[in-house]
Amino acid sequence: MKLTFSGAARTVTGSQHIIDVNGRRLLLDCGLYQGKRKGAFEVNRKGPCKGSEIDVLVLSHAHIDHSGNIPCLVKNGFNGDIYSTSATRDLCAIMLLDSGDIQERDVGYVNKQRRKEGKEPFEPLYTKEDAARAMENFIGVGYRRRRTIARGVDLTFVDAGHLLGSAHVVLDISDEDTGKDVRLVFSGDIGRPGIPILRDPEPVRDGADLLIMESTYGGREHPPYPEMQKELRRIVQETYDRGGTLLIPAFAVGRTQQIVYELHKLYDADAIPKLPIYVDSPMATRVTEVFRLHPDIYDAEIRDFLLRDDHDNPFGFGRLRFTPSVEQSMELNAIREPIIIISSSGMLEGGRILHHLRRRIHDSKNTILITGWQAPETLGRKLVEGADEVRIYGRPHTVRAKVEVLTGLSGHADGPGLIEWADSMKKKPARTFVVHGEDGAAGVVAEDLRARGFPEVFIPERGDSFDF
Ligand SMILES: [Zn+2]
Ligand SMILES: [Zn+2]
Repeated sequence: MKLTFSGAARTVTGSQHIIDVNGRRLLLDCGLYQGKRKGAFEVNRKGPCKGSEIDVLVLSHAHIDHSGNIPCLVKNGFNGDIYSTSATRDLCAIMLLDSGDIQERDVGYVNKQRRKEGKEPFEPLYTKEDAARAMENFIGVGYRRRRTIARGVDLTFVDAGHLLGSAHVVLDISDEDTGKDVRLVFSGDIGRPGIPILRDPEPVRDGADLLIMESTYGGREHPPYPEMQKELRRIVQETYDRGGTLLIPAFAVGRTQQIVYELHKLYDADAIPKLPIYVDSPMATRVTEVFRLHPDIYDAEIRDFLLRDDHDNPFGFGRLRFTPSVEQSMELNAIREPIIIISSSGMLEGGRILHHLRRRIHDSKNTILITGWQAPETLGRKLVEGADEVRIYGRPHTVRAKVEVLTGLSGHADGPGLIEWADSMKKKPARTFVVHGEDGAAGVVAEDLRARGFPEVFIPERGDSFDF
C-alpha cells in the first residue's frame, strides 16, 4: 500500500491524498487550490492525476478547498463512486455549481492576460454543466454506517463537527500484498467543540495505524465562545442606538447560518432591539434549506431550542427575511431605518455585499461587521486594517462607517483542540502525517504530538509518497 500527498501539504488549501492498495487507487478529497489567481489556475488545471486513474473518491466535507476540484476530475475521465455524507452531497450540489459559475467568469480574466501575450485562451477549469454532471457520481453514507468501497477497503464516516455533514474518514484496509490489516484515519477538518448547531467532533477512540491530520490552527487558541456572543450583542445595540444599519459580510455556507442563529437567540432573550434582518445571498438561502433538511445532525442545543420555542426553524424566524431575487435585494437600498443585512462574500471580494457597502460605507451611523479571517489584499483585510478610503467596482469610497471585527466564530479546532482530538486515540498511530496547515502551524502540531508519544510524525511535501 502506498500513500501520496498531492495537495494541502505544507499549505491549507487543495486537499488531495492518494492511496494505492489492492490494485485500486483511492483519492481522499479533491480540493481546489486557492491562492493568487493565476498561479492557482495553473495548479488546479494540471490536477494531481488523470481522472481515469482514480477508482474511488472519498470526500470529508463540502468546503471548496476539499471538494472544489471534483468537477475537473470528472471532466478528466473519472467515473468512479464519490462517497460522502448525504449533507455533504447536498451542499456540494449548491457549492460546486456556484464554483463552476465562478470558474467560467475567472477564466475570462486569465484569457485577457493570455491574449495580450499572444497565447491561446484557456477553457474554464470547469463549467456549471461539468459540476452538475459530477453530482451523478455521489453516494451518500450516514455516520457510523460501515461499508465496503473497494476490494479490501471498508469506509466509516465519523462526525467531525466542522460543517454540516463534515466527517472524519476511517478506512479499514486488508492489504493483499502484506497480508496485514491496517486502519487509516483521515481527520478532514476538525471542528470546534461547544459551538452551536453542529455536534462536537467525535474522537476516533480506538485509534489508528496511520493518521493524516489537519493543522490549520496549530499553535493558536480561540477566545471563548460566550465572549463573541457578548460582543455581537454590544455591536447590534450600538448600531441601533446610532440609527444605523449593520452590514455583515459572511460566507454563505455555515457562517451565515451561525450568525442568524446567534441573532435569533438574542431576540428570543430580548437582549437586543428587534430590528429586521435580511439575508441577502441567493446561495445562503439555498444552503439554509439544506440545513433544514438535516435535523438528524443538529446538536442537542438546537434540538432543545426547537422544542422550547416552538419555532419550526432555527434559521428562519419572525424578523428574518430572505431576499433571493435581485429586485428584493435592490429594495433594501431604500430602507432608512435600522436593519441588519447579512450578505456574501465574506471577504468582500464579490457578491451582493458590495452593492450595500457602496451605498452605506459613507455614513458614520452604519457598522460593517467582519466575521472571519480576511486574506491579504482583500477589501475585507483593508477595512480591518483601518483604510480611510477603499475602491469598490473601481471607484474610490471614503470609509466613514464603523468597522468592527468579531473573532471567535471559527469552525476549526484551535491548537489545543487538535492535540486533544488526536490524543484521545487509545492506540497511537505508528505514523502520523500532518497536513492542511502553513509550515508554522503544522510544525507546532507535529512537535506537540511527538511530545505526547506519537512515535513517527511527518510533515509531507507536495508529491511525497510513503510505502507501508
Ligand atoms: Zn473545512
Ligand atoms: Zn479545509
